[in-house]
Amino acid sequence: AKGLMWFRRDLRTHDNAALFYALKHCEQVHCVFVYDKTILDQLANKADRRVEFIWESCMALKKKLQGFGGDLHMVYDKAEKAIPELATKLGVQAVFTNKDYEPAAIDRDITVGKTLQGNDVALFRFKDQAIFEEDEVLTQAGKFFSVFTPFKNACLKKLDEFHLTPYPSEARLGALAQESKLPVPDLEDMGFKRTNLLDMIKPGEEGALDAFDDFLNRIDKYKVARDFPAVKGVSYLSVHNRFGTISVRRLAKAAYDRFKLDGSEGAMGWLNELIWRDFYFQIIYHRPDAAEKAFKPEYDQIRWDDDEKAQQLFKAWCEGKTGYPLVDAAQRQLNQTGFQHNRLRMVTASFLTKDLGIDWRWGERYFAEQLNDFDLSANNGGWQWAASTGCDAQPYFRIFNPYSQSEKFDAEGKFIRKYCPELAKLSNKHIHNPAECPPFELQMADVVLGETYPRPVVEHDVARKKTLERYAVVKKEK
Ligand code: FAD
Repeated sequence: AKGLMWFRRDLRTHDNAALFYALKHCEQVHCVFVYDKTILDQLANKADRRVEFIWESCMALKKKLQGFGGDLHMVYDKAEKAIPELATKLGVQAVFTNKDYEPAAIDRDITVGKTLQGNDVALFRFKDQAIFEEDEVLTQAGKFFSVFTPFKNACLKKLDEFHLTPYPSEARLGALAQESKLPVPDLEDMGFKRTNLLDMIKPGEEGALDAFDDFLNRIDKYKVARDFPAVKGVSYLSVHNRFGTISVRRLAKAAYDRFKLDGSEGAMGWLNELIWRDFYFQIIYHRPDAAEKAFKPEYDQIRWDDDEKAQQLFKAWCEGKTGYPLVDAAQRQLNQTGFQHNRLRMVTASFLTKDLGIDWRWGERYFAEQLNDFDLSANNGGWQWAASTGCDAQPYFRIFNPYSQSEKFDAEGKFIRKYCPELAKLSNKHIHNPAECPPFELQMADVVLGETYPRPVVEHDVARKKTLERYAVVKKEK
């Protein structure tokens, strides 16, 4: 039989479930990646790091497949059209792909599956992106978990060698269909430009494996180092997780083995984060409506500010010009690199919703445009957590104080100095809140508030009170 392997967010040959089954069941396997017009044409920013990451990773994948006599078809088209057309052209009996749990992806797969079926071609979908998916881990009552800790405990209980064993997909690459060199659509052909991505990240499987090796040297310290943005404490693997240039089984197995070996708290803490990823996948799978609406429906009664003033505040937040140094440094990191540290995502999301009174969906959308690792499930989950509208979210009356977050997690102002160089000469004491800095020190540090650096756009204490009033509608409903 002949098969077609449809790569999506699994841009690797190692431990790839769909690729393994395609190679196992077919004598000849063709491979394809679709640059989906439905997605790409919607992107307003044509210098998009994600598109470049995908393109580079596909080129690396193509080279790898070519090393085995195969190749990667690259098509710039709508997937619903391109996959059935290619399947017919190549005369395959089956298409193999790994599952994606986002609502739009599920709809797309249903459409593709129906068209294929009409042509007598089967579509097989596999679990690959998650350790546990869909209904694999449920409460005793048979419902999906909406609270993280019991979900995590149930996952850890279920986690065994079976779930962590890699698929030996690479060992079977000999079954690839032999192809003569296939054409490549350039980034420019699709209307995109190069970015600064390659200065920061090495894409592809090789990039992912290098980053993981680097992190394994630090994993034991993860728990103590993970909250400090100026410290290299986290793995920076999220973009690789997003596009599947590394297998989550490999990551989970390494962390689990390390934990079993010597009880490494860092390794367990990190495994915990991988489980958060699964947690949000299963939330979006079971509650696709949460992509648009508050997970807890009563929270959609909250009236967010959306007047002209709110638009201005939103702009200041996007650009990193709020007058709150940690928030500004974080937003500038996001704009300049496409990454924002997890602690800072919590701080900036809390600031937007609870200091500026702006709808979490505005922030979610901005992150979706900017983040290299943007993933609907984790982004929506993170925003709804910060806005208190989500499952297992931060209670609404818990409001981060952006100044004390700054003093605690960037005590020496190292992170702030990197992204807000105009504040670099302020002392460790005053860098967190220049508005409270004595005029003499400001002058010595060449800071002119309102000129070289903005005054705070809101007062935290006033905003805090307003937020408690804003959220009171939720309390009344109970
Ligand atoms: P590490 O700390 O090394 O964690 C390891 C891996 O676990 C990450 O690569 C990621 O795949 C996963 N992970 C870690 N934390 C979470 C989490 N809270 N939820 C789900 N998965 C997690 N993560 C995304 O991957 N995409 C997003 O679009 C995204 N948006 C977010 C928005 C907000 C408002 C918040 C608060 C968090 C968001 N996160 C998102 C989660 C988290 O901030 C990032 O995964 C993390 O910062 C990535 O850095 P890292 O790879 O070094 O993480």
